[in-house]
Amino acid sequence: MTGMHTPLNDTTRVGGLSYLNPLAPEPWASFVEQIERVRPHLGSLERWIETLIRPKRTLIVDVPIERDDGTVAHFEGYRVQHNLSRGPGKGGIRFHPDVTLNEVMALAGWMTIKNAAVGLPFGGAKGGVRVDPTSVSKGELQRITRRFTSEIGVIIGPDRDIPAPDVGTNAMTMAVMMDTFSMNRGGTATGVVTGKPIALGGSLGRQEATGRGVFITAREAARHQKIALEGARVVVQGFGNVGGIGARMFHDAGARVIAVSDHTAILVNLGGIDVPAALAHVAANGGLAGFPGADRIDAEEFWALECEFLVPAALEGQITAQRAERIRARIVVEGANGPTTPAADDILRDRGVLVVPDVLANAGGVTVSYFEWVQDFSSFFWTEDEINARLERIMVSAFDAIWHIAQEKGISLRTAAFVVACHRVLEARAERGLYP
Ligand code: NAD
Repeated sequence: MTGMHTPLNDTTRVGGLSYLNPLAPEPWASFVEQIERVRPHLGSLERWIETLIRPKRTLIVDVPIERDDGTVAHFEGYRVQHNLSRGPGKGGIRFHPDVTLNEVMALAGWMTIKNAAVGLPFGGAKGGVRVDPTSVSKGELQRITRRFTSEIGVIIGPDRDIPAPDVGTNAMTMAVMMDTFSMNRGGTATGVVTGKPIALGGSLGRQEATGRGVFITAREAARHQKIALEGARVVVQGFGNVGGIGARMFHDAGARVIAVSDHTAILVNLGGIDVPAALAHVAANGGLAGFPGADRIDAEEFWALECEFLVPAALEGQITAQRAERIRARIVVEGANGPTTPAADDILRDRGVLVVPDVLANAGGVTVSYFEWVQDFSSFFWTEDEINARLERIMVSAFDAIWHIAQEKGISLRTAAFVVACHRVLEARAERGLYP
């Protein structure tokens, strides 16, 4: 049964094939390759580079619960603190039946790079539970969340490591995590997680922040490439928090969203999809399947659609070398983490497709999570306009800095973002020195 105990060997395979896309390398292998590409640009900091390919702390936990029918089920959970050199760990919690340690390690590594690339005072972390949240009852899911939080409670905390939502988790999951951590501690620790409901110290604008950041970086890239947003064709894979909001922002800016997909359907309408209607359909039906305003197409047609912007916003390893050969987008904006394999990255570069990398494009979510954490600490809350204005400033200045380094060194935006981030992380590492 989905989510029941899985042997450790199966969940910790490193170097094999990813469950996400059998043609893509394992996520951690992609991350390591991306780090290797930065090596020539590190100067004297290169001596510290191995810090980045060895997660600092990896916790695997057993999450047993009593099911509604009285049986006992075990789930496997993870929290990886990839790097804490620049501050507490920060990164989401994924609930998915196929989460692996390998994947969580990579996602934690990308958080280290992302937080440093946009200048947030955090290290990188990520967590996950191997569970299909739709296959358990509400009560069972809450018990899983509470037991998982207790198990990783030994390493998280407002000044140690601060989780947030990711695929399969949401504001309610964060409410339960915050409550569990607080009960164990005997006080209320709102700052232990971000992405909480507003009533529990959540931040205005957090839910839209990742999609908003995707749109801001897409807009900046388009400005440099002299592509008008008005009437631009947009293709979006994944229609959840990131893809759905990102699509709506493109739509509101006058762009034409011509294709969208999720785990239930792949849809096209070259005249432009009514994005608010599609979002309402997903809210009512749990997926895009059955949405009347577009036609079904197959996956390979979807990836080959001619467009100005292609936004992968689902899972890792989606843009493989094979797909990269067929992509006819001017700009790929990575809403998802790790959607493009390193081999595909090279092909897209050679074919003149600009890639705005995940560690920059989807950093809006963690940026507003940072604002939430700061607001919780000070117990002083900002208006949504203030939050959006600060987000805009941080995203635009990170984009500009990374764009200029890419131009100056003749490297991709991804490698430039990694260069900026690795410098910051390894400089902190070097200045702190080795303990003992
Ligand atoms: P979500 O659960 O809200 O949405 C995921 C979407 O992907 C859903 O529409 C789902 O149906 C779709 N999907 C799943 N499998 C698919 C498949 N095989 N083909 C097409 N669509 C598929 O999750 P989210 O929060 O939007 O996260 C999406 C991606 O963005 C993940 O890579 C996540 O790590 C990344 N991300 C999220 C945030 C955030 O703040 N939520 C921040 C940064 C990065």
